Amino acid sequence: MGSCDTCPSKGTCGSSGSECNSTCSKTFPRYGKIKNIIGVISGKGGVGKSTVTGIMATTLAKKGYKVGVLDADITGPSMPRFFGINDKRAMIIPLENEMVRFDPVETNNGIKVISMNLLTAVEDQPVIWRGPVITGVLNQMFVETNWGELDYLLIDMPPGTGDIALTVMQEFPVSEVIVVSTPQDMVSMIVKKLVIMAEKIGIKIKGVVENMAYINCPDCDKKIRVFSKKSSEEHAEYLGLPLIGELPINTDLTEALENGKAEEYVKDNDLYSLIFEALY
Ligand code: ADP
Repeated sequence: MGSCDTCPSKGTCGSSGSECNSTCSKTFPRYGKIKNIIGVISGKGGVGKSTVTGIMATTLAKKGYKVGVLDADITGPSMPRFFGINDKRAMIIPLENEMVRFDPVETNNGIKVISMNLLTAVEDQPVIWRGPVITGVLNQMFVETNWGELDYLLIDMPPGTGDIALTVMQEFPVSEVIVVSTPQDMVSMIVKKLVIMAEKIGIKIKGVVENMAYINCPDCDKKIRVFSKKSSEEHAEYLGLPLIGELPINTDLTEALENGKAEEYVKDNDLYSLIFEALY
């Protein structure tokens, strides 16, 4: 258990609604103060959860907020690539009593990022660990990172309802989660499992982002729905969530990502600003 001073829920979680709950068993970051912790979740891999985390972080930073990103996908980390910082390394500072502090890598827009891929010697080095070890490492990355003062910490979760998702939702003081899905019945069905899990744990869900919902016809600019004739609204309705917005399949974004320029591309894109700057 950490200090209540760094808890984003301080002053709101007590039984009276105004005092810090003395029985609180949440884990807090040791260094710095974080006002809001937002989990970005999806039931299924490959729907664009990490991409949406990067887009959200970039647009919130553009709006003037101090933003951090915790890449909780320990075995499949991708946030450093999004921000084009995959050739940089987070500093591991040894402290007394065998403690360490992680100094995150800052992106061009000052977003503080910590990821397993910024801590291993080389980017393609795998971590071959079982669940409890992975959970312990994630805990350490959250607690021991020097976040400084943040308005928002976005946590890019691994897909599914496994160990890590449970740890983050139950043990970290998450203010709310954003769900990422694609408008396909099969995906919605799997995502719904995670939505139900979050509801059971008592986590507030802000809404769903339907990613890869359409492509823009290059000739007439009409929206072509690639996966499903159903609208994003219908899929959001099935999940029982407000629709935050729908994003197109965008090959310019993919290309920017491949060139480590996604942050700049997203910053200059009006659609992303419109959807994500309006969130907070
Ligand atoms: P997840 O985190 O859900 O596993 P990613 O964000 O890593 O998914 O995205 C999976 C792949 O799809 C990546 O190669 C990413 O570049 C691509 N991608 C995600 N969203 C879009 C989009 N809207 N347009 C084009 N490519 C996308």
